[in-house]
Amino acid sequence: MEYRDYLRLVPKIELHCHIVSTIRAERLIGWANERGVELPSDDPDTLFDYDNIVDFLKVFNAAHEVFRTRDDFATLAYEGVADAVADGNLCYREYFINPDNFAHLGFSYVDVIDGLIEGLRRAEEEWGVGFGIIPAINRGFDLDTALALVESIAANPRPEVVGLGQDDLRADAHESPLDWQAAYDRAHELGIRVSAHVGELPNSQAADVIEAWNVLKLDRVDHGYHIVDDEALVAEARDRRIPFTCTPRSTKFLSGWPLDEKHPIADMLRAGLTVTLATDDQVFFRTTLREEFEHVGLGMGFGPDTIERIVLDSVEATWAQEPAKARMRRDFRRQLLSLRTALVSSSEA
Ligand SMILES: [Zn+2]
Repeated sequence: MEYRDYLRLVPKIELHCHIVSTIRAERLIGWANERGVELPSDDPDTLFDYDNIVDFLKVFNAAHEVFRTRDDFATLAYEGVADAVADGNLCYREYFINPDNFAHLGFSYVDVIDGLIEGLRRAEEEWGVGFGIIPAINRGFDLDTALALVESIAANPRPEVVGLGQDDLRADAHESPLDWQAAYDRAHELGIRVSAHVGELPNSQAADVIEAWNVLKLDRVDHGYHIVDDEALVAEARDRRIPFTCTPRSTKFLSGWPLDEKHPIADMLRAGLTVTLATDDQVFFRTTLREEFEHVGLGMGFGPDTIERIVLDSVEATWAQEPAKARMRRDFRRQLLSLRTALVSSSEA
């Protein structure tokens, strides 16, 4: 077996996926045409060609305008799982969604969440792909909207809803995760797990990551790359076993980092940090989870030992309940052993 095939077939977990970005290009174009939403292009091959954040946001925002019924959310969710299973053996995924982004179209928190749950359940029954949903604070909105989102989670309990996260970006492109501290404090009162986007953008620092971890009492860090700018803080992140959800392709777009052995994610892996891999906004960044594994396995040059570590660390980093986690652990170890044998025996042949 070629290493590229191994990377495609390893069982995968994704913990940093904004679900609207799992929409099929053809589906987005079809719905947009049918529903009078303007897109910069009708061609799936060029729709996602942009080299700046303004053009990116045009397509990104249009994709949030095409939804008309609750069933649309189910369709989005179901097709997204089908594609990720076919492309790279997706086994479990946690999704960010900001229901507030659809309020102007007449959708409530429950419409959006229950629509997604319906599609994800259907996919789980068909392919066994587990999932969790993480309502995400839109960083372009204000603190009151974020606080109301936390209350919506509490008022509409669903076992599928597993935490609170973040989405979008503040208009001035600063991360400032502590802006949302009141919402995080309230989430903790309600026993809701939390993650935050921090240490991603060129204007962020290593200390921001540890500060957000401490002040917001995070359970996971989304991105976190700038931790590598400070050796002592890297050691601290390792000792505290902070789990990071890293999205290689999006860093090339936002920070211009080549996806090679000098990439901050490569430094994080060599330093022994807990790294999981994800796509962030996959259709908009033209990536898939399989390709993110290729960036690490081929571009950054890591072998199967590191890939296995990423896969098994990802199980521990999920917010799944323990019986489901134990099943994943066993299932993944079995798949990894079998794949490793195929890889080794083909290299000896
Ligand atoms: Zn993100």
